[in-house]
Amino acid sequence: MPIDATQPYDPGNIFAKILRGEIPCREVYRDDWALAFHDINPQAPLHILVIPTGPYVSWADFSANASAEEIAGFVRAVGDVARQQGLVEPGYRLLANIGQHGHQEVPHLHVHIFGGRQLGAMLP
Ligand code: IMP
Repeated sequence: MPIDATQPYDPGNIFAKILRGEIPCREVYRDDWALAFHDINPQAPLHILVIPTGPYVSWADFSANASAEEIAGFVRAVGDVARQQGLVEPGYRLLANIGQHGHQEVPHLHVHIFGGRQLGAMLP
């Protein structure tokens, strides 16, 4: 079920539990600003989720309430993960599902990285 992205942050959400180490994940990257791990239900040969370490539900929440340092650190981490996974060439796709119309299911901001094959043209 898609979430209401205007809800207050729920510290019991599954990605918060992964951040706290209460649920395992296949981690590929962690620093002060971001954690990246393999999606449990991959939609491409490489499907990684990158999440900020802070408690943000949506892009609006993050961009309005995170510090410049957090935002820069998160954006840099997404690029670093793509580079470390060897995706810069031949390329990859970033996607963030936000709120009900975006079909966001986990109420902790996350960016999907898809790669490892030729992706199709993106349709809404
Ligand atoms: P979205 O909220 O629609 O952008 O998608 C949430 C994504 O989280 C889906 O691709 C799920 O497969 C993924 N997911 C849900 N639970 C877990 C987990 O425990 N580990 C890794 N990925 C998960």
